[in-house]
Amino acid sequence: MIDLHSHTDRSDGTFTPAELIAEARRIELNALSITDHDTFAGYDAALPVAAAAGLNLICGIELATRYQGTSVHLLAYFPVRPPSPQLRQWLDWMLEKRRERNVRLIAKLQSLGVDITLEEVEKMGRTLTGRPHFARVLVEKGYATDLQNAFDRYLDESARAFVQRQEATMEEALERVLASGGVPSLAHPVRVARNNWEKLAAWVEDLAGIGLRAIEVYHSDHSPENVAWYASLAERFGLGITGGSDFHGANKPNISLGTGKHNNLQVPDWIAEKLSALAPSS
Ligand code: AMP
Ligand code: ZN
Ligand code: FE
Ligand code: FE
Repeated sequence: MIDLHSHTDRSDGTFTPAELIAEARRIELNALSITDHDTFAGYDAALPVAAAAGLNLICGIELATRYQGTSVHLLAYFPVRPPSPQLRQWLDWMLEKRRERNVRLIAKLQSLGVDITLEEVEKMGRTLTGRPHFARVLVEKGYATDLQNAFDRYLDESARAFVQRQEATMEEALERVLASGGVPSLAHPVRVARNNWEKLAAWVEDLAGIGLRAIEVYHSDHSPENVAWYASLAERFGLGITGGSDFHGANKPNISLGTGKHNNLQVPDWIAEKLSALAPSS
């Protein structure tokens, strides 16, 4: 069993990097990838812990990109060489854009009569403060009944307080990941193109043409039908396969590392073994 999609408290998970490594050891994962949103901070902190524990930790990240007027998540793996300084610099720029968004989001919430400050929210996050941290504060202060309710009432794209963050384009993200020797994989396709199968197939064909190398076939939100369909898409467009739980600790309490929701996930070991072969040669 392996898991190539997980988050630590360096983005919006609740496990520290060391706690996540301990959990991976406990359930006897053969390979783990930490794919925090927009930061390698969790991976960096976990690497020595994983090495000491003899766990195969694969460097990864999850990037939110703009594609066809929507927000599409792109996973990237670095199984051969570590991400370049240029890629890390670019992430610093994105972190700055995120902070600008957070300032505007606070102002918007305050204008709606919500008593909330940036300091309170940033205390929840570490390297990176995102909307899930806003959701926690909104729940704690009684403005929402639970995290989902906080999104529905205030933070979701369709909700009252939503503020657009400047995201990288898919094209630029693919280019930068490939230039750094990474393997870009389309994250949880069930959330892409509103799960319209024909549209998704057209998008995947286009993405394969501009550098996409894999599809996340296995994911906690995928039904067996989804898995079969995404695997067939990968085959059709010559793409590799990745998979993982999207574990977020207590922020998504129904998802377990390695096994997903109610044991609906089993990512075969060969997927980790084949990852290096998907990396661009240079
Ligand atoms: P951010 O990158 O700060 O804009 O936050 C994005 C994160 O918020 C996503 O990765 C999800 O974990 C979470 N999220 C976004 N929309 C929703 C939603 N409608 N319901 C629950 N969680 C959401
Ligand atoms: Zn997340
Ligand atoms: Fe995602
Ligand atoms: Fe994720």
